[in-house]
Amino acid sequence: MRIGIFGGASDVQCKAVAREAAALGADTLFLEPDALDRGLPLSMLDGRTFYRGEPVDDVRGFYLRAIPSPYVPALERDDELVLYEDWFTTFMHTRERASYVVAWLLQLAHRGATLVNAPHAASVMQYKPFQLHVLRSLGAQVPRTLISNDPAAIRAFHAEVKDVIFKPIMGGAITRVLEDEALARLEDVTASPVIFQERAPGEDLRIMLVGEEIVSAVAIDTPEQHLDFRADPIYSGGGASYREVALPEPVQRFCREAARACGLTFAGIDIKHQGDAWVFLELNSSPIYLDVELKLGHPISRAIARRVVEGARG
Ligand code: ADP
Ligand code: MG
Ligand code: MG
Repeated sequence: MRIGIFGGASDVQCKAVAREAAALGADTLFLEPDALDRGLPLSMLDGRTFYRGEPVDDVRGFYLRAIPSPYVPALERDDELVLYEDWFTTFMHTRERASYVVAWLLQLAHRGATLVNAPHAASVMQYKPFQLHVLRSLGAQVPRTLISNDPAAIRAFHAEVKDVIFKPIMGGAITRVLEDEALARLEDVTASPVIFQERAPGEDLRIMLVGEEIVSAVAIDTPEQHLDFRADPIYSGGGASYREVALPEPVQRFCREAARACGLTFAGIDIKHQGDAWVFLELNSSPIYLDVELKLGHPISRAIARRVVEGARG
C-alpha cells in the first residue's frame, strides 16, 4: 500500500509525513513539484497515469504540500527584477505544466481519492476575502475590513477606524501599519486592491486543524513586539517559542466550520487573541508547522498521515 506526496522528497515536512505513513504501513511515492520543469515523464494514456514510466493509479491518498504554479521567470540584479528574454514562452510553459497537474488532481478527486487538501485549496491562489466572508457569516469575530483599490474609500476608512493595518489579498508580504508614508502613496492601490483592517491587539495564535481534530493550538512568542511576528529575526531564524493555549468551545467550532466551508481538511488558522476577543485573520491551506511539532510534540504530521493513509485504504 502506498500514498502519494506532492512535494519534494527532501522537504522536511514531507519527510515527516512519509515517516508517519511508514509507521502506519504505507510507502510514499513523491511527486516532485519541479518534476515537469526537469522534464521527468508524466503521461496519461487513455485514462491511466504513468509517472517516470511507472503506473501510479493504485495511489488513492495524497498529501499536497506544494504543486506547480505559473510563474514569470525573472532574476534580481542590482535590486531590480530583470525578466528573462524568453519570459513569455517560459511563462506559457509554466502555465501549461500547472494546468496539467491541477487537472490530474481534479481527476484523482473525481475518482474518489483522498487529497489533503483538495485541488482548489491546494492551488497557489489563496482567497482571504472569501475566508473573511465565511468567518463573518459563521458569526466568528473578524477585524473591521475594507478591501479596495479606491484611495477615497481607504482615506474614509482610515479616518473612521484610525488604527489600520494593510496587507496583500493573497499574502507574500509582511503586514504594515497604515501611516504617513503609505498614506502618501495611496494612489498606488489603483493598480491592485489591498486589504485594510482595524488592528487587532494581543497575541498571535496558530491553530492546526486536521479533519475535525484540533491537533495544535499555540501562541507564538517573539521577544520583541512586531505587528507581524514574521518580521522578528528570531522567528525567521527558527528561534520562535510556542505556548499551548486552550480554545473556548465556540472558537473551536468556528475553526472546524470555517475550514469545512473553505474546503480544507488541513488548515493552519491565524487568530489574534486578547481577553475575550478571538479575532480570526485567515486559514492557510499548506501551513508550515514542523517547528511547533518538534518543540511541543504536537503530532501534526501523524494526523495528516493517518488521514491520507485511511483515505488510501478506502
Ligand atoms: P499572511 O500570514 O497570509 O501573510 P495574515 O492575515 O495572517 O496574512 O497576516 C500576517 C500577520 O500580520 C498576522 O499573523 C498578524 O500577526 C498580523 N496581522 C494581520 N492582520 C492583522 C490585524 N488586522 N490586526 C493585527 N495584526 C494583524
Ligand atoms: Mg498568516
Ligand atoms: Mg497566510
